Amino acid sequence: MSENVSRLGQIIVVCAPSGTGKSTLISKLREEFPNFGFSVSYTTRKPRGDEQNGREYHFVSRDTFVAMRSQGEFCEWAEVHGNLYGTATQPVVNMLDQGKDVLFDIDVQGAKQLKKTFYKGTFIFLLPPSKEELIRRLTSRGTDSEESISKRLANAEGEIAEAGFFDYWIINDDLDKAYEELRAVFVAGACKPELRTDVEQIIKKDWGIDG
Ligand code: ADP
Ligand code: 5GP
Repeated sequence: MSENVSRLGQIIVVCAPSGTGKSTLISKLREEFPNFGFSVSYTTRKPRGDEQNGREYHFVSRDTFVAMRSQGEFCEWAEVHGNLYGTATQPVVNMLDQGKDVLFDIDVQGAKQLKKTFYKGTFIFLLPPSKEELIRRLTSRGTDSEESISKRLANAEGEIAEAGFFDYWIINDDLDKAYEELRAVFVAGACKPELRTDVEQIIKKDWGIDG
């Protein structure tokens, strides 16, 4: 195949109740596929642990966030656990234009807004194996206060009630198995016909068929 033949970027949206292991699984995916474009969200929440501005999030004040929102800079935004989170549209459009796959780590409200813009994306929902294990993970992570853990647990119920919205469900019990499933969904997503400009070029060139 010619070297300049490539496919279009795909949109992958991963949602999960906080503490399920979404960041852990997304880090593994980004490690294996370093060319992934990652949508770095804006948030009014304070940095946690060794989080760095511009890497995990753009950490901004509420005033800055509200100003960006009123200027129409976000393709989706939501209030989650008392903080504002949003995705800036322009960097996503730039990554897609470059043919990069773009990964979104956002909440269910944001995923629903995003589907209106990027309806051909792949929407994945991760679940913890049980409520008990979710509590254990939230507590053992050691990064959230008791109040924050209670908020996250209360939200989990509403998020799990929305599971039917998603294209794929993955239970994060055994980490390796969950990763294998996430990876499979990503790899299969890249084969969707609407992204395969490379296939279109081959069938046009060799068979004279317009895709
Ligand atoms: P999220 O991003 O969904 O809030 P994290 O990735 O921070 O969750 O994971 C929450 C905690 O659970 C972390 O301490 C992480 O190491 C742990 N964890 C993640 N996946 C598993 C798993 N499959 N089994 C056991 N612990 C896990
Ligand atoms: P955390 O504070 O644990 O990093 O994230 C809390 C929740 O906010 C997670 O479910 C995360 O996916 C979600 N989130 C992070 N960035 C965004 C965003 O840009 N938009 C929306 N809607 N949710 C986000």
